[in-house]
Amino acid sequence: MRRTRVRFAPSPTGPLHMGGVRTALYNYLYAKQHGGDFILRIEDTDSNRFVPGAEQYIIEALNWCGIVPDEGVDAAGNVVETPSERHPHAPYRQSQRRSIYRKYAEQLVASGNAYYAFDSAEDLELMRSRAENAGQTFIYNYSTRGGMCNSLTLDAEQTARLLEERDDWTIRFKMPEDRTVAMDDLIRGHMEVNTSTLDDKVLWKKADELPTYHLANIVDDHLMEITEVIRGEEWLPSLPLHWLLYEAFGWTDTMPRFAHLPLLLKPVGNGKLSKRDGDKMGFPVFPLEWTSPDGEKSHGYREDGYFPEAFVNMLAMLGWNPGTEQEIFSMQQLIDAFSLEKVGKSGAKFNPEKARWYNREYLRMRSDSELAELFMPILREKGVEAEPVFVEKLIGLIKERATFVADFWDIASCIFVAPEKFKDHGIKAGAAFEKPATGRPADPRAKVYDDSATEPFLAKDADKFWKEEYWRAAKDALEHCEAGEIEDYVRSKGLPLGKVMNCLRLALTGAASGLGIADIISFIGRDEALSRMEFAIRRLGTVFAIESVE
Ligand code: GLU
Repeated sequence: MRRTRVRFAPSPTGPLHMGGVRTALYNYLYAKQHGGDFILRIEDTDSNRFVPGAEQYIIEALNWCGIVPDEGVDAAGNVVETPSERHPHAPYRQSQRRSIYRKYAEQLVASGNAYYAFDSAEDLELMRSRAENAGQTFIYNYSTRGGMCNSLTLDAEQTARLLEERDDWTIRFKMPEDRTVAMDDLIRGHMEVNTSTLDDKVLWKKADELPTYHLANIVDDHLMEITEVIRGEEWLPSLPLHWLLYEAFGWTDTMPRFAHLPLLLKPVGNGKLSKRDGDKMGFPVFPLEWTSPDGEKSHGYREDGYFPEAFVNMLAMLGWNPGTEQEIFSMQQLIDAFSLEKVGKSGAKFNPEKARWYNREYLRMRSDSELAELFMPILREKGVEAEPVFVEKLIGLIKERATFVADFWDIASCIFVAPEKFKDHGIKAGAAFEKPATGRPADPRAKVYDDSATEPFLAKDADKFWKEEYWRAAKDALEHCEAGEIEDYVRSKGLPLGKVMNCLRLALTGAASGLGIADIISFIGRDEALSRMEFAIRRLGTVFAIESVE
C-alpha cells in the first residue's frame, strides 16, 4: 500500500474563492483520515496571470481555516524552496522547478507521443480565421497537424535547424485519432471519451522555457507521489489528456485516482457561485478580505466576523453529505466522517443564511469568557472601559441574540452608552404602537416620513403614543422598585404595561426594541437608569409636551 499523498495545487491568479478552499479542505480531510500527507503546490507557470500577493493570501487563508499543509510551506508560511527530510519534494513552486520539465516533454517526443511545433502565432491565427470563414472551428489535431509546420511534417534536418534558429517553438502532445479513453473517477464513476474530439495541447514552450499546466501538473503529481487527485469539476475536460499523459510516460502503475468535485452554485438561479452573487446578496465569496491590484476591495469571511470553524463546517457540508442528521462537525469529526463516496455528483447550492446559522451555532458553543475576550477590543475601539467580569456576565445575557461578535455592540451598546437621540427612534416607537396584531409591517406612514419630518410627526401624534402619565409612571417605578418589580408596580397603578414599558425602554436605550428592561436596569444600575429617564424627559418634553413630569 502506498502512503496516501494528496495535493492542493492553486494557481496564484487572485484570491482563493471559497470553492477553492473547499477543494483544499476535502484534500486535507482525505489525507488526515488516511494518515497521509497534504501538500500545497503553487502552480505559477503562467506568468501572464500572476497576481502579486495571491500566493501569500492562499497560505494565510488555509492557515486561518486550520488546513495546514504537511509539505509545501514552512512554519513561517513560505513555500519551501529546498528539499529537506520533511520536504523531500521541494521546491513546491512550479516556477522554481522549471528545469525539471523540459526533459519530460522531450521524452514524449522521443517516444512518439509528442512533437515539435513551429507554427507562429500568425500562422495559427490564419488557420483559425480560415476555419471560421468556413463556419468551422480550427482544432490542432490529427486532422490538421499534417498541414502545419511541425516535426511530423518537416524532415529531421529541417527540424533540427528550426530548433536551433527559432525561440518560439513548442512541444505538442500527439493526441491519438479515434481512440476511446476509458476513465474512472471516484465521484463521477466510469467515463469514456473519444480522442478525435480533443486537440494537441501545448506541453512546453521554448519562448519562456516553461511547461504548460498540463505537463507540469502531471509530472509533479508523479514526482510528488500523489495518490489521489481531488479537484474541482472544471478540470474534468482535462482528464482524458492527463490520463493519456500517464500512459505515454509509462506511469499507469502509480497513476493517482481522480475525484472531481461538484461546483458550488449560486443561492438563486443556476450557475457557478461568483463574486457578483456575493456583492449582490451581501455575502463574501472569499475566506479573507482581498484588495485587487487595481484597488477593488472584496469582503472576506474572516473580516466579516465568521469563526473559521463555522466557515469550515459550512464548507464541508457543501457537496458532502454525512448520511446522518448531524450538521455540526469539528475538524476532527470531519476527518473521521469524511468520504469521497458521499460527495454528490451535482452542484451544491450555497445558502448564505446557512452560513450565518453556522456562525450562530459556533458562537453559542464558545464560552462567555472567550466571547468577552473577543468583544473587549470592540469595546475599547468604541472608547468604552469595562471590567472583563462585567462583560462576561453581559455576554451570558445577549449571546443567544447574536450571530457575530460584532452584534454584541448593536445589541448591548445601551449598557455602556446613554442614549442621546430619541428622535429617529421615536418614529419607530410610535409606529410600533400602531402595528396591527397581524404582524404586518409597522405603520406605513413611518416610511414616508424622513428624518426631518420625524419631529412634526411625533408632535402631532405624541398624545396618542406618549401620554404624560406613562412617563410619570415610568419614572415613579424606577424610583420605587427593584428592577424585577417594575412590571407589577405599573400594573398595580392600573396603567397599560406595554406603554409604560415603552417609555422606559425609549429612555434607557433610545430605541424601541432590544434587551429586557429589567436586565438593562440590573446592568446599568438604578442611578444610571434614573438619570437616563430624567434626560429623556427633558429632551422629549419639547416634542411630547411632557414638561410637567417631575
Ligand atoms: N493549478 C490548477 C488550479 O488552479 C490545479 C488543478 C488541479 O488540481 O489539477 O486549480
